[in-house]
Amino acid sequence: MSVERDYMIRKHCRTVAGLTVVAFVAAALYFAVTRISSYSHRMVEFDSGQHLVMGTFARVVAVASDSQTAQECIEAAFEQLTFVENLCSVHREDSEISKCNRNAYGTAVKVSEETFEVLQKALKFSRRSAGAFDITVGPLVELWCRAAEANSLPTKQQLTDAVGRVGYDKLILDTNTGSVRFAVEGMKLDLGGIAKGYAIDKAVEAMEYHGAAGGMVDVGGDIRCFGTPPAGREHWLIGLQDPARADNALKPVEVLMQLKLPSGIGSAVTTSGDYRRFVLIEGQRYSHIINTLTGHSSEGLPSVTIICENAADSDALATAVSVMGVKKGLALIEKMPQTEAILVTSGPESKQYLTSGAQNYINTESIDY
Ligand code: AMP
Ligand code: MG
Repeated sequence: MSVERDYMIRKHCRTVAGLTVVAFVAAALYFAVTRISSYSHRMVEFDSGQHLVMGTFARVVAVASDSQTAQECIEAAFEQLTFVENLCSVHREDSEISKCNRNAYGTAVKVSEETFEVLQKALKFSRRSAGAFDITVGPLVELWCRAAEANSLPTKQQLTDAVGRVGYDKLILDTNTGSVRFAVEGMKLDLGGIAKGYAIDKAVEAMEYHGAAGGMVDVGGDIRCFGTPPAGREHWLIGLQDPARADNALKPVEVLMQLKLPSGIGSAVTTSGDYRRFVLIEGQRYSHIINTLTGHSSEGLPSVTIICENAADSDALATAVSVMGVKKGLALIEKMPQTEAILVTSGPESKQYLTSGAQNYINTESIDY
């Protein structure tokens, strides 16, 4: 766990040495897989174990009719995760997003189909969340990283300046040419709120293409399962980490509840929240999720979990609801078909808020691991 933490510190704010960012392990945990287990009905299950990808640990489980297919599915899934990381990471100078950040004010930057697709999805969620989710948050992310390094809060002037360079309405996507332009100088994209989910979806697609009967892709606790669950199970089971007991990355993970995801349909579970990643400034914790209207870090919701059909959507929505808060966040998710939310508030009187269909996903049966 400490390896992951150190890695994420370097990865998340590589340009600002010495920054205090604390990262916690997976919010959701996939339960009970052995490395390779056999099925009575001749299915095999391969578990990749943990690998560092996208600045966190990723794990893939494949259920297939034979070992070779399962192995190929796992390789194809990791290939996709790395592919999306190479396109979208702001920590890689040669990524398409970094190229946009250097050149898209003044010059239209042509990007791959995949990058264009994730940008379009991001804009869709910006509109739906009235800007709570906004991938043009880059200048603010950098400002808070520098503030953490200096151990001093950003000034009002710095916040105003950065907010002026943020806004999804200033991001221009040309569908005819597949290119990206910025309307304002100094804009920067940061896909940290959606790229993992998008990568998970690409990995699942690749596994299905390579013949997986079922599988699970977990990137830093953001998870999507599909098809046949592990041997002896009726469902894929996911544990949600208790944010109130996650104050130390070295302690064993405590589970708040178990979610069961039905087999046969794709199911994604993504958690956002300040218990997972935050910066420390003058001894005070600030969430890594930022309200782009004010420039301040979002407060009050340590854990937002979204369950829906694909991981790009659940990832973007979890970040959006973290900014929107309980009332507006629940109202947004209630309006969306086949989408549920589980929110946990902070403080000694921590409460859970669920959308109307979320209870159906909570496992109440006891389980042997
Ligand atoms: P997540 O853990 O999926 O909620 O994503 C958090 C990451 O998304 C942060 O580390 C930033 O890189 C980025 N981010 C921060 N605030 C926002 C926001 N309001 N909208 C979209 N992305 C954000
Ligand atoms: Mg997200």
